[in-house]
Amino acid sequence: MTSQSDRENMIIKLPVINNNPTTKTPSNCTNCDQKLGKQEYWIMCGALKETKNSASMSSDLLGFLSLSAHGEINASIEIVKNGSNGQSDIPFCSKKCMTNFWMKCINMLPEK
Ligand SMILES: [Zn+2]
Repeated sequence: MTSQSDRENMIIKLPVINNNPTTKTPSNCTNCDQKLGKQEYWIMCGALKETKNSASMSSDLLGFLSLSAHGEINASIEIVKNGSNGQSDIPFCSKKCMTNFWMKCINMLPEK
């Protein structure tokens, strides 16, 4: 059986979302793959198409989320690619997993 600590230290395969198109609602934590429970945390990213008096999702938008380094070293980490309708939701079972995920992504960037 996999321990909670082992699950939290799982290697993340990026991009975590590359869905064009999909309607599947995620049911597991992005960081530890544990089934989501009564308390969930989400990174929500994307774009909305501006309309006359508001804004809405649109099928002609593809969302993305990336981290990058610019300067003597140039690199980019794609976290989300091709977010359907410009939207992507990345779920976590806990704030600890959300933090752990961000730290793993940041640590993938090269450092000078
Ligand atoms: Zn988790």
